[in-house]
Amino acid sequence: MHYYLLIISFLSLVDISAQESCAFDWYNEMIISDSQLSGSRGSLENLYATSSDDNNLKSSEGDISLPVVFHIIHNNGTENISDSDIFRSFDFMNEAFSNIGSYYSDTGYNTKISFCMAQRDTLGEFFNGIVRHESSFTDMSNGVSHDMISSLAYYNPLEYINIRIMKEVCGQNCEEVAGYAVNAFPAYSYKNCIVIEYEALSSGSWDASSLVHEMGHFLGLLHPFYDGCKNDNCLVDGDGVCDTPPDSRSTITHCQVLVNSCSTDEDDLTNNNPF
Ligand SMILES: [Zn+2]
Repeated sequence: MHYYLLIISFLSLVDISAQESCAFDWYNEMIISDSQLSGSRGSLENLYATSSDDNNLKSSEGDISLPVVFHIIHNNGTENISDSDIFRSFDFMNEAFSNIGSYYSDTGYNTKISFCMAQRDTLGEFFNGIVRHESSFTDMSNGVSHDMISSLAYYNPLEYINIRIMKEVCGQNCEEVAGYAVNAFPAYSYKNCIVIEYEALSSGSWDASSLVHEMGHFLGLLHPFYDGCKNDNCLVDGDGVCDTPPDSRSTITHCQVLVNSCSTDEDDLTNNNPF
């Protein structure tokens, strides 16, 4: 993916929770198997690729600010987390994308992408960007589908990124996952969103890195280990971004631990094979 190249390495730096994984790849594979969705996404990818060197399309202004709405889907349990938990995670996400504060890294980048909370609700009234929905749909292990939660809670997807907070999120066969992101539907579709378990944002043992990770997916990034060790053309293979060597690890390795998971990372001196 090439939409936001400045978020290079983001998903390798921002590991999702150590307790649970991310179901993005499973949802992504379902989208790839849908010829209409994969076709429209392919067209978008081509547009990004052909326009990425067009200076007329690049903004010289400051940050891009993206409005977000947090939908807490709850059944009056612990998943009904506090506003302060949401704002803490929201601040953390902005720090991560700006490479400042608690997420500063010497090798990090300021993506020039920031996030703001929605200011007005659907009736035009001021609110704090957090909407609470009481519903049994909070638990996907009870047969609740992505379509069901999508239709329950959303603001205009052309104007806001919808983030849905759940008690339980399911991946394939409903294995334990912390969340996922979907952005492959047409831009006006309420199905485009981030879905994430409340524990990933609450003040317990997890930090907000799962939210940062899923936002990376929402903005177009694949896992760096997507497609395994294939290493012929970095614009196509792996995550499609040329900043990282091939990687086959789908399990978490501490950032300071150097592990070479592929034997294909030899620079053949062609432009699209820097590793
Ligand atoms: Zn992921």
